[in-house]
Amino acid sequence: MNEVLHTTIAGSLPKPAWLAENQALWAPWKLEGDALAEGQRDAVRLALFEQEHAGIDIVTDGEQTRRHFVTTFIEGLDGVDFEHRKTVRIRNRYDASVPVVVGSVARRHPIYVDDAAFLRSQTDHAVKYTLPGPMTMVDTLSDAHYGSREKLAWAFAEILNEEARAIADAGVDVIQFDEPAFNVYFDEVRDWGIATLERAAAGLACKTAVHICYGYGIKANIDWKKTLGGEWRQYEQTFPLLAASSIDQVSLECANSHVPIDLIALLPGKDVMVGAIDVATERIETPEEVATVLRNALRFVPAERLYPCTNCGMVPLARPVARGKLRALGAGAALVRRELNV
Ligand SMILES: [Zn+2]
Repeated sequence: MNEVLHTTIAGSLPKPAWLAENQALWAPWKLEGDALAEGQRDAVRLALFEQEHAGIDIVTDGEQTRRHFVTTFIEGLDGVDFEHRKTVRIRNRYDASVPVVVGSVARRHPIYVDDAAFLRSQTDHAVKYTLPGPMTMVDTLSDAHYGSREKLAWAFAEILNEEARAIADAGVDVIQFDEPAFNVYFDEVRDWGIATLERAAAGLACKTAVHICYGYGIKANIDWKKTLGGEWRQYEQTFPLLAASSIDQVSLECANSHVPIDLIALLPGKDVMVGAIDVATERIETPEEVATVLRNALRFVPAERLYPCTNCGMVPLARPVARGKLRALGAGAALVRRELNV
C-alpha cells in the first residue's frame, strides 16, 4: 500500500450487463438461483481487478451483490413487508416505492457476512465494506409499526451492529455506514442521528467510517442541488458533531461541488475521505483535476489522514466511465504523492 493518500471509493461500481441492467437504480437481476450467486461473485472479482489495476488501495466489492444500498439489507430482516409497498418521499426529494415496517424489525441470520468473507479472500489489498446508516434506512421505507423515526433508527442500529461485528470478524479493515440523510435532517442528526450511528459502529474490530454526500447524479438530486445556492454549507452542521463522535473516518463530496473545502477543518483528528471524482457526470476527470482537489484538501488535512475517494457510489454510471474515473483517481493521487516525495 502507498505510504500516504490511500485511495478508496465510496462503495458501488456499475454491474456487468450480464448481471443487471446498467445505469439504473434498483435494476433487477438477470440471473437466478445458483447462477445469480456465481454471477455476483464473478462480478466482485471484476470489481476488484478494476480497482487494483487503477491503483485503488482500499477496495470494496463494488456492491455487486446488492440491488440497492439500503433495500437489499432490509430484505434480509424480519418485520418488513415487501409485497404491499408504499410510495414515500426520500430525503424530501423524490418518490420511491418502498417496503413497509409492519412489526418489530429483527435480524434472524447474517446478511452480508459471507459476501464480506468472500471479498476478504479475493484480494491482498485492505478492504472496506459498506452498510446503510440507521437514519438513511428509516428514510428509505414506510413505518406502520414504531410510529417514531428515532425508535426505528435505534432498532436498526442494534441490528446493524450485530451485522457489522460479524463483518469485522471476517477480516475487513473498514466498515462504512452510508448516511446521505445526514445532509438533509439536521435537527434529527443532532438529536439522535449521531448517537444511533455510534451505536451501529460500537465495539467493531476495524476502522469505522460514515459517508455523507449529495447523492447520485439522478435528476431529483441534480434539481435539488440547484436550490442549494452558491455555497453548500450543509456539512458545517454535522462535522463538529462527527468530530466529537467515536467514528474514525468521514467520506464527503468535494469534486465539482459547491462545498467550501475549508469545512474539512471541522474534522480534526478524523481520517477524511475527500471526494475527488464527480459521480454526477459522465465526463472523466483528468489526473490533474483530481490532484487539484487533493492539493486544496491538503491545506486543511495532513496527508496521512487524507484518503482520495469518489463523491458517491458509481453504480449509475456506464462501466467504461467508471473505469476511467477509477484510473483518474489512482493517477491523480500518484501525482500528489510525487510532489510530497513519498
Ligand atoms: Zn453517496
